[in-house]
Amino acid sequence: MLLAALLAGAPALRAQHHEAAPAPAASTKAPAAAAPAGETSPATQKRGSPDAPSHAPHPELRPLPAFEHVKNGNEAMAKARAANTAVPPPAERPAGAGRYVCAAIVCADADLDVPALLGLAQKDVLVIATPGPFVQPETVALLEQVVAEDRLSLILVLTHDRCRTLTAAPSGSATNTTLQRRLALAAATGRQRHRSLRDAMAPLQREQLLAASAPLREKLLRDELRVMPGEVADRTLAIRWLQNRAEELPVPPVK
Ligand SMILES: [Zn+2]
Repeated sequence: MLLAALLAGAPALRAQHHEAAPAPAASTKAPAAAAPAGETSPATQKRGSPDAPSHAPHPELRPLPAFEHVKNGNEAMAKARAANTAVPPPAERPAGAGRYVCAAIVCADADLDVPALLGLAQKDVLVIATPGPFVQPETVALLEQVVAEDRLSLILVLTHDRCRTLTAAPSGSATNTTLQRRLALAAATGRQRHRSLRDAMAPLQREQLLAASAPLREKLLRDELRVMPGEVADRTLAIRWLQNRAEELPVPPVK
């Protein structure tokens, strides 16, 4: 009862407060002390929270500008590295990005500074490191959550060219046998597409991710999400993007 009354009364109280408050001139900042107890002053909101309420339309970072941002970031970084010059500082964060500019599923045995690799600040990338990278159910679940709650619009799937997982020799152990089976399956699918395992792996894991998740496929169809496969050159750190037109299309669930 009390809670319902409070909830019902809340908008009215807020409206009253706004009517009572003097309209600040555009150039005048409202002093923080003027904010009533229990409310956050506009100045504090601006400083403290990127999600501060705003009357301006909320821009959303679309998948393509997000991809162009990280693609350009990687090119600038690789160029500086090749020229032996200082790596440029991260470019300005693209407008409308949610909590992250992108998520990157990367191979766990790659010795990579993933945010730097993409020209991003550390907090702007959700890095998911897993051997391969083979997409695991937990990875799919986390990405579904981040896409839904944090407006994530870009997922990268990144292999690398000196991968110990993709070239692991059979050892006879049970876990190694499972890995060998998965690698053989990936290699066979790659051969059907006239691709080496190296070139097939990231696109295949992209398909696995989408096949495992109806919510992600729906976002992809609405062009609110892209999943881009690529391979990082361990020496130069340049990314070779591996998507083609057909892979831009969502895939039906694979059984
Ligand atoms: Zn690896």
